[in-house]
Amino acid sequence: MKMYIGGEWVDRETKIEVLNPFDQSVVDTIPSATASDVEAAITSAERGAVVMANMPAYERYKILHRAAELMTDRIDDLGRTITLEEGKVLAEGLGEAARAQETIELAAEEAKRLTGETLDLSGASNGAGKFGFTLRVPCGVVAAITPFNFPLNLVCHKVGPALAAGNSIVIKPATDTPLSSLKLVEILLEAGVPPEAIQCVTGSGGVIGDAISSDSRVRKISFTGSRDIGEHICQKAGLKKVTMELGSNAPLIVMADADLEKVAAATATTGFANAGQVCISAQRIMVNDAIYNDFLEVLKPTVEAITTGNPLDSETKMGPMIRDSDAERVNAWITDAVSGGANLITGGTREGTLHAPTIVADVDPAMRISCDEIFGPAVAVSRFDDIDSAIAQANDTNYGLSAAIFTENINWAVQYAQQVKSGNIHINWGTQWRADLMPYGGLKDSGMGKEGPKYAVEEMTETKMVVIH
Ligand code: NAP
Repeated sequence: MKMYIGGEWVDRETKIEVLNPFDQSVVDTIPSATASDVEAAITSAERGAVVMANMPAYERYKILHRAAELMTDRIDDLGRTITLEEGKVLAEGLGEAARAQETIELAAEEAKRLTGETLDLSGASNGAGKFGFTLRVPCGVVAAITPFNFPLNLVCHKVGPALAAGNSIVIKPATDTPLSSLKLVEILLEAGVPPEAIQCVTGSGGVIGDAISSDSRVRKISFTGSRDIGEHICQKAGLKKVTMELGSNAPLIVMADADLEKVAAATATTGFANAGQVCISAQRIMVNDAIYNDFLEVLKPTVEAITTGNPLDSETKMGPMIRDSDAERVNAWITDAVSGGANLITGGTREGTLHAPTIVADVDPAMRISCDEIFGPAVAVSRFDDIDSAIAQANDTNYGLSAAIFTENINWAVQYAQQVKSGNIHINWGTQWRADLMPYGGLKDSGMGKEGPKYAVEEMTETKMVVIH
């Protein structure tokens, strides 16, 4: 496919191959953009921002609503494209496409709901006879830098709110998975987005990232990706608004009164979907001493039932990892843990990008498989004795994106929700659950700012205070 800059689909002689992570076949190619392509995209986006800011909100609603309708018509193609470039099983690819459609529909609705507040300024000692109100205005040019693992929905979480709020947008999709974004751009243009209001620049973040992040014409950066790249972007961004949706090593606590079958099902679903390549994957499974061995007995067959293979095959429950080097890294972390005294309960092998679903038990919290983000199909199980130590272990990390607890005890559940430093808390389900309308974002090194169209629109607008004297 071509990239979209300055109101045109453009190609470049240097191409990047988009590979199917399962068999390394070439799905398509994309142009490898340079810093001058970024320059052209931002120059065009500046003009697009003026067009968008002058467009009535109802018009913005209608365009996004139409885009959501087109997405419904093309849901099969979108789902298959996600699977081909990303490697998640087709059911998950189709599920992501359906969620992306809902995200755009939610963003369309938010276009109609931009509000401010009125202030009776006579409440101030110097305010007698004065009255004021706030106006929410678009930021201008918004840049969206997105990761490989949800190549459509996470792009929609930035593009939808940006356009709903009256901004133009420059998308820099992940180089491994750019095709879903490019198909989204086709849909948005067909739905009526003005040509210069959207740009999609394909190419390596290492090559073109700084040109986007440091450009002072970009007023807002919305980034989803790894912690270190997020920090680098913040350093380059200077005086800009930023939203950072970063990684995690999410804890799942199993109290002694939990329903173990339910926990095992939740661990399998929320720890191994998309081969564990989800920012809120359940990674650190902490189990009360009293039920520790019983839980491992129930968990083992549940995880062993996750079949691996070609993600297009309906029998496959888990597909490949995105790159061979990632599968190799995950395998090395497992090997390190086992040689350091942890016990391999199941898995631990790989064939190229296909890594077996793995349980490692008796994990020391200092091991990499526990204290770093593994972002792969492995869970690290350890033990605790009471709710206070469970909370302390859950908090013993620089991350704070999602955390879960299984218990029938309301006091423990509420204590956990209050004391665990995490942007999302789940009671009686695993860490990987999200409704696209909810406020979603991390604490600590997991980032700052919230997504979910209502909240993203807030972050993609600025407040002006008007005083009538
Ligand atoms: P990544 O390596 O950080 O890449 C994310 C994006 O940043 C890609 O588009 C990448 O481009 C770009 N990039 C790379 N270097 C850059 C630079 N110097 N300047 C600007 N942009 C640059 O992350 P990933 O491997 O794609 O995704 C996995 C990570 O994302 C995990 O840590 C995961 O937890 C996190 N994540 C977080 C959330 C959340 O909502 N909190 C959701 C999903 C994923 P290239 O592809 O060209 O390198």
